[in-house]
Amino acid sequence: MSLVTTTEMFKKAYDGGYAVGAFNVNNMEIVQGITEAAGELNSPVILQVSKGARAYANHTYLVKLVEAAVEENPQIPIALHLDHGDTFELCKSCIDGGFTSVMIDASSKSFEDNIALTKQVVEYAHAHGVVVEAELGTLAGIEDEVVVEAGKEAYTRPEEVEEFVDKTGCDSLAIAIGTSHGAYKFTAAQCTRNADGILVPPPLRFDVLEECIKRLPGFPIVLHGSSSVPQEFVKMVNQYGGNMPDAVGIPEEQLRQAAKLAVCKINIDSDIRLAMTGNIRKYFAEHPDHFDPRQYLKPARQAVKDMVAHKILHVLGSDGKA
Ligand SMILES: [Zn+2]
Repeated sequence: MSLVTTTEMFKKAYDGGYAVGAFNVNNMEIVQGITEAAGELNSPVILQVSKGARAYANHTYLVKLVEAAVEENPQIPIALHLDHGDTFELCKSCIDGGFTSVMIDASSKSFEDNIALTKQVVEYAHAHGVVVEAELGTLAGIEDEVVVEAGKEAYTRPEEVEEFVDKTGCDSLAIAIGTSHGAYKFTAAQCTRNADGILVPPPLRFDVLEECIKRLPGFPIVLHGSSSVPQEFVKMVNQYGGNMPDAVGIPEEQLRQAAKLAVCKINIDSDIRLAMTGNIRKYFAEHPDHFDPRQYLKPARQAVKDMVAHKILHVLGSDGKA
């Protein structure tokens, strides 16, 4: 199988009541960890590349790594997606350069300007067999170069979604219902604390999601900023010399619930970073004399694989759906 678009994936996910994981990739170990898990569990998967990842690893390296993963896992559909494209030129460069899906994120612009830029990208993408994700509403938090201060976020306005999709022709829509980018999704003031002193974030706005679904029947919805920031990794980071107090994410059971509805794509990045960093810190602490990168990248890659397998089985529900 060669790289695919998300069209067929999303149709099956919508009808089947599950979501496809979209995991950010930056290097070989991450690509391998994700696709080994998806391959073994027969799950479709989306590998996504941000502007920052392209700047870090180089477009060609990332495309070739993903092509290698496709060759190694011919039994599953894999899509290559641009995460948070912010200009027509960036989207065009990825469309011309082998991606099967792009996101144009013009959500910080006015409704009219968001429509105009999204429509321009859709026209070019569709002419080249590539699909487009757009965004309405603004998530809080930090993701590479996308920075939104707390208090500047805005839930998607359901009354706008039909007009937006009609006028732009986009293939999927990212909405803001209370998810957030990064490992510090909420301030302590926004949360309560459970018996163990761990922050519990405010619940996702399922009323906003339901209202969007009603207005866009059959249309795939995307959730960004959907890492759960597993406390086992935060603990590991802190135990072995790190300092990440009060890192908090989206509870997995809420994501599972969204995946059963019209949410067909769930973005996960911070959990990959945490799994790798926690395990590398632990390895360094336990083996101060080791200096071969393969020694510490091996458990880091395994941690990514185990984490992704957990998401596929218990959050996304996409196992056996290849
Ligand atoms: Zn995002």
